[in-house]
Amino acid sequence: AQLDTLDLIVLVALLVGSVAYFTKGTYWAIPKDPYANSPATLNGAAKSGKTRNIIEKMDETGKNCVIFYGSQTGTAEDYASRLAKEGSQRFGLKTMVADIEDYDYENLDQFPEDKVAFFVLATYGEGEPTDNAVEFYQFFTGDDVAFESGATAEDSPLSSLKYVAFGLGNNTYEHYNAMVRRIDAAFTEMGAQRIGTAGEGDDGAGTMEEDFLAWKEPMWTALSDAMGLQERETSYEPVFSVTENEDKSPEDESVYLGEPTSAHRAGQPKGPYSAHNPYIAPIVESRELFTVKDRNCLHMEISIAGSNLSYQTGDHIAIWPTNAGAEVDRFLQVFGLEEKRHTVIDIKGIDVTAKVPIPTPTTYDAAIRYYMEVCAPVSRQFVSTLAPFAPDEDSKAEIVRLGNDKDYFHEKIANQCFNIAQALQAISSKPFSAVPFSLLIEGLNKLQPRYYSISSSSAVQKDKISITAVVESVRLPGASHFVKGVTTNYLLALKQKQNGDPSPDPHGMTYAIKGPRNKYDGIHVPVHVRHSNFKLPSDPSKPIIMVGPGTGVAPFRGFIQERASLAAKGEKVGTTVLFFGCRKRDEDFLYQDEFKTYQEQMGDSLKIITAFSREGPNKVYVQHRLKEHAQLVSDLLKEKANFYVCGDAANMAREVNIVLGSIIAEQRGMPSEKGEEMVKHMRSSGSYQEDVW
Ligand code: FAD
Repeated sequence: AQLDTLDLIVLVALLVGSVAYFTKGTYWAIPKDPYANSPATLNGAAKSGKTRNIIEKMDETGKNCVIFYGSQTGTAEDYASRLAKEGSQRFGLKTMVADIEDYDYENLDQFPEDKVAFFVLATYGEGEPTDNAVEFYQFFTGDDVAFESGATAEDSPLSSLKYVAFGLGNNTYEHYNAMVRRIDAAFTEMGAQRIGTAGEGDDGAGTMEEDFLAWKEPMWTALSDAMGLQERETSYEPVFSVTENEDKSPEDESVYLGEPTSAHRAGQPKGPYSAHNPYIAPIVESRELFTVKDRNCLHMEISIAGSNLSYQTGDHIAIWPTNAGAEVDRFLQVFGLEEKRHTVIDIKGIDVTAKVPIPTPTTYDAAIRYYMEVCAPVSRQFVSTLAPFAPDEDSKAEIVRLGNDKDYFHEKIANQCFNIAQALQAISSKPFSAVPFSLLIEGLNKLQPRYYSISSSSAVQKDKISITAVVESVRLPGASHFVKGVTTNYLLALKQKQNGDPSPDPHGMTYAIKGPRNKYDGIHVPVHVRHSNFKLPSDPSKPIIMVGPGTGVAPFRGFIQERASLAAKGEKVGTTVLFFGCRKRDEDFLYQDEFKTYQEQMGDSLKIITAFSREGPNKVYVQHRLKEHAQLVSDLLKEKANFYVCGDAANMAREVNIVLGSIIAEQRGMPSEKGEEMVKHMRSSGSYQEDVW
């Protein structure tokens, strides 16, 4: 019964989470205007009176292929768009992309036999569906599936449905690609005909893109056989018409210069603020946390006073970044757009179901600076689409070779960590002026907000959100350039500006600090808050164990801040243990001084156990310390402590999970499988919580 209640809580939390759902715009979906910030548009089709009947929609628009996506961070959505485009151009399919939450699935048993439905489904967290696929998933994996027609799971209701499936997962999580596996199993059981294999991409192994490329070719062959499709010579067909509008100047009020919504453009942003409508928040304080010169970790205080935004300790804040000026310039130069950077452009979808992911009208400069992910690693498929537009035969041949030869691509492009403009610079010194701008909009993601674990307590500072962000800046061995994270370097520039730093631009990144129409002047940044399930126990006398090396300490600073303030008020606070790790005590021990103050307030109930990886002869990590303190950990778990892990998902979190299982097994004299099972049980009952990335 306890599990049922918890399941229910998780379910409700997931549904609440779906309100905060954010993903990049799709090109072919039901048009919904993400730039208008009326809440009525947030749920797309449902609220705007558009049909939720996919069969009807396909009939009306003359489509024979729908590509549904369940996406959290935009990758599944991007793959859906790419499949739609390829299906249309190579095989003449009439494709459309659809957000899976915009349609009903109770009539999928009526899906016409001569059409096909694709399902591109990401698995999120612990084998969960993405926010937009929760209802779909529950419908098909629930106990009593019943379709509108009255058909049930036993009737082979999906026998007319041809489907294609691809999953996006991460093998470092236990329930690898659970979403696509379970949906595929449910569909098969209900008689649907899968075309090709159910593909699985693995983000954990870093092979997502190659897995996708390797899966799709045999799938297209199988689909061609099943539907009698003929592959044709492809020629590029733009999804958008991009026209230069000489009548408008960038100063015109109607032109988006980087503003996220029409209300922001008009200078009157208003709440409710959400993933579709960020709040332009003042950064009221910013400082450096590391004491070394070559690495940076930022502490920032972001004010949400007067915004009606609220947060709870353990939530996330999303920061909407701006691309570095140096990269905007490079991109403009590579595509021969420098002279026209401030020309106003109108972007329209050519197909009725195509949705423009960039607010329009805008300028080339604004589109690249504020709306397009131009710095991300570039995909092999995207590079190869540029071949027909290469400036000469040599560069065309080189692009074709890169497109066809995976290893060559890795050596020349991927291993150098080039973004698209850097890759093309390496291929030719001539500008790629013939590339249609539509192709760039189609091939690059919409610039995504980045999430940060809030490092303050809402009970202590309800109107101010702290973040703790390590600046991503890496020089690869042998490479000439630094690989720089988009958001963290933008935040570094804001911090340096705020503190009047004499060298505000260490690598000549030149950010537009003041934002569109100077609206971010005075150090502002667009943000929204995302609620999470990563929460302190409601009873503060319960003990807690936290494992948070590096910036994984972020939410735990909030947790400790909260418990210290309760202790200072005389409340009974349970044992609070933090396992923290970094390189060296005097270099990157985050919040060292602050923790001393909390220690005074909390006395013995706060225990900070440190692991410094570069101080002694051997590397010591938090997992080692956890093992050394096995007895303490085990005793606290017996007292019903909550156990929290935050930070690196790939290695640390996985190892901590294993170590905890072995601690439980050893301390209680159980076989190791039993220890693992106990950890699983702790996870499902909510006493083992992760906030990892
Ligand atoms: P990005 O531009 O997104 O780059 C990401 C990585 O890719 C970098 O390592 C970069 O070096 C590499 N990269 C960039 N361009 C290329 C290229 N062309 N080729 C190859 N590699 C490239 N981070 C924190 O510091 N503190 C937190 O508290 C925190 N909390 C988080 C909570 C959640 C729920 C999540 C999902 C993430 C959290 N993160 C946190 C991570 C954070 O969201 C960002 O991912 C991180 O700050 C990097 O963002 P960025 O825009 O600077 O880098």
